[in-house]
Amino acid sequence: FSSSTPIKATLFPGDGIGPEIAESVKQVFTAADVVIDWDEQFVGTEVDPRTNSFLTWDNLQSVLKNKVGLKGPMATPIGKGHRSLNLTLRKELNLYANVRPCYSLPGYKTRYDDVDLITIRENTEGEYSGLEHQVVKGVVESLKIITRKASMRVAEYAFLYAKTHGRKKVSAIHKANIMQKTDGLFLQCCDEVAAKYPEIYYEKVVIDNCCMMLVKNPALFDVLVMPNLYGDIISDLCAGLVGGLGLTPSMNIGEDGIALAEAVHGSAPDIAGMNLANPTALLLSGVMMLRHLKLNKQAEQIHSAIINTIAEGKYRTADLGGSSTTTDFTKAICDHL
Ligand code: NAD
Repeated sequence: FSSSTPIKATLFPGDGIGPEIAESVKQVFTAADVVIDWDEQFVGTEVDPRTNSFLTWDNLQSVLKNKVGLKGPMATPIGKGHRSLNLTLRKELNLYANVRPCYSLPGYKTRYDDVDLITIRENTEGEYSGLEHQVVKGVVESLKIITRKASMRVAEYAFLYAKTHGRKKVSAIHKANIMQKTDGLFLQCCDEVAAKYPEIYYEKVVIDNCCMMLVKNPALFDVLVMPNLYGDIISDLCAGLVGGLGLTPSMNIGEDGIALAEAVHGSAPDIAGMNLANPTALLLSGVMMLRHLKLNKQAEQIHSAIINTIAEGKYRTADLGGSSTTTDFTKAICDHL
């Protein structure tokens, strides 16, 4: 894409703080002269029978058509008989890998200054297959599904990512000593793919040991690939290493070239509508979207403006110990551009 050709991208502002932080992204992108034609999508108020979810058929078609998008947080509606919005998106769009970069932000002091790692989470199966039932009263069962197809797909993505991004090491995270069949199959797939990438150092790390190593010395890791549940937990642990959920972006990778960037955090109902949310995670997700679109110059400009604003320390939101509103912080980023 040339930087002047408008690119159509789906935008889900989402729930809670979602519309406030989505507005921030729109303002910063406009200030940086990024020509995105946002196709704004709002989740329905009734269950759409075609998706069995509040996510409508039109919502899904928008992403399928545009192939690229940015998603704010979506609250899980309470009630029975329909699927969670996030689960519907992942399943229907086949968003098989969730990529979460996690790096120390210069100027924002946390326990470590040298965190620079990427978690790659299998996004479609494992304990999140939604297969739970009661066997007899007092005994319930949850099925963990691991398939060769999904494990190969995410392992291949992780090694290709490592190679194309100049990363040196991939760690497969597992508990195959206990879950020998499920995690065993996941590891076997990682082993097979690793054999095709002799230039990348490959290791297998048991999840509990991985947690201990991450909090003791995160610099030991580079790219981590893992099944769904471990990825959910470890990526939040990694967010905590660099300053919390307000800072960490992610990108969901689907088949047929679909890429849907999203902040890691939820809808933060406790601060929704109060102009207090930190838009950094969604902004950095937007930067990931721009890199995916090869708009690298604008991606770098926006990235630097965010980093410089936080490093300067004059405008920071409450989660980073400051007292700025979302709008003041956004304006400061625009001024840095
Ligand atoms: P949450 O991430 O919404 O909030 C956890 C804490 O972090 C809260 O104190 C919140 O104020 C704070 N926080 C989160 N994002 C912030 C930001 N950008 N700036 C400042 N503070 C921020 O998690 P939760 O409370 O467990 O979930 C709330 C809702 O979000 C639930 O309905 C949940 O299902 C949903 N959720 C959605 C997603 C998603 O769409 N990907 C992810 C997680 C949770």
